[in-house]
Amino acid sequence: MNVLVINCGSSSLKYQLFDMTNESVLAKGLVERIGLEGAKLSHRPAKKDKYEVETEIPNHEKAIELVLKALVDSEHGVIDSMEKINAIGHRVVHGGEDFSGSVFIDEKVMKALNDNISLAPLHNPPNIMGIEACKKLMPNVPQVGVFDTAFHQTIPKHAFLYGIPYEYYQKYKIRKYGFHGTSHKYVAQRAAAMLRTPLEKLKLITCHLGNGASICAVEGGKSVETSMGFTPLEGLMMGTRSGDIDPAIVSYLMEKEGWSMEEATDFFNKRCGVLGISGVSSDFRDIESAADEGNERAQLALERFAHMVKKYIGSYVAIMNGVDAIVFTAGLGENSAEMRYEICKSLTYLGLEIDRDKNFTRGVEADVSTDDSKVRVLVIPTNEELMIARDTYDIVTKL
Ligand code: AMP
Repeated sequence: MNVLVINCGSSSLKYQLFDMTNESVLAKGLVERIGLEGAKLSHRPAKKDKYEVETEIPNHEKAIELVLKALVDSEHGVIDSMEKINAIGHRVVHGGEDFSGSVFIDEKVMKALNDNISLAPLHNPPNIMGIEACKKLMPNVPQVGVFDTAFHQTIPKHAFLYGIPYEYYQKYKIRKYGFHGTSHKYVAQRAAAMLRTPLEKLKLITCHLGNGASICAVEGGKSVETSMGFTPLEGLMMGTRSGDIDPAIVSYLMEKEGWSMEEATDFFNKRCGVLGISGVSSDFRDIESAADEGNERAQLALERFAHMVKKYIGSYVAIMNGVDAIVFTAGLGENSAEMRYEICKSLTYLGLEIDRDKNFTRGVEADVSTDDSKVRVLVIPTNEELMIARDTYDIVTKL
């Protein structure tokens, strides 16, 4: 069975086609600048050359049409007809409280997705557009929704509520939802495999450190706390997002700068984080290079980032009353030996010891703690697409 995984952003669409008989990737690619000038499809078929098309791509339907054309293309394609796409799995950012797992998408699910738009106005509309476009182009192919929020639905109420009147939770569903759930779940499962211990017996802290960053406490295989909240803005400082701040800063800055609500939202999402502190870039590679060359603000941005991660790790150890392993994943977590070392060197109070030689690894699964370390430190490349393909396969084969 072949499963097409689709991840729609507001102006982009990522895809991967999996052959689920061996979980291999037949092709993957990216459509960029949908609805904008300079739109482009980059298609990477396995064992064939990369193929790029620059053309007008006014909407997600046209983008998916181009993807399908590339997949069946006689020269650059990997399947001989669209009939060979047996199921489609969509990444959906916000499932609200309606979904604690992946689901087959029917009319009822579409209604729930639409009802949740106000919770994720930037993310859910493109996800819905992607689903609708697939429905139109491949009406008979089953579609599955896999939610970023679903894994965190096990967080207990005392942890997901904010300190505001309870009526606002009831009336507006204001609570912590958490994101990156598919990634936290995947690396937790891989960690259990690497440690040869059932997930049910483990206390893990999974650190998804990329351009967006979040940390999760995983106890017995279940998310019990996570750093992102009502939206992906809460928690760690990120590439361009502020992460935790005193909420009074929002109205204070709006008054001082004369900003509208929209301008303030844009500011805290796009101009803050390590970009805001360093003034260099939102990309950690640029910031690490600038810090190496003596840029003090770049160094400060790295130190504050590591400081935030340590704060969360410490609080999650307290919540779970211990930890067996700390897992690093996503762009920075998988690749930056410096950042992992910076974080772990302050965790010796846990009996945790990172092995400096083993830590010089990048992008592959590895245990980078010393043999004597009481807490394991694992590097695990995330694979959200594979998780989506697996969930889609499981649901569709049971239909
Ligand atoms: P992601 O959002 O998971 O794709 O991660 C993207 C971020 O990972 C980039 O913005 C970089 O800051 C960071 N990153 C990727 N590779 C490296 C590397 N070799 N060293 C440091 N940071 C990296």
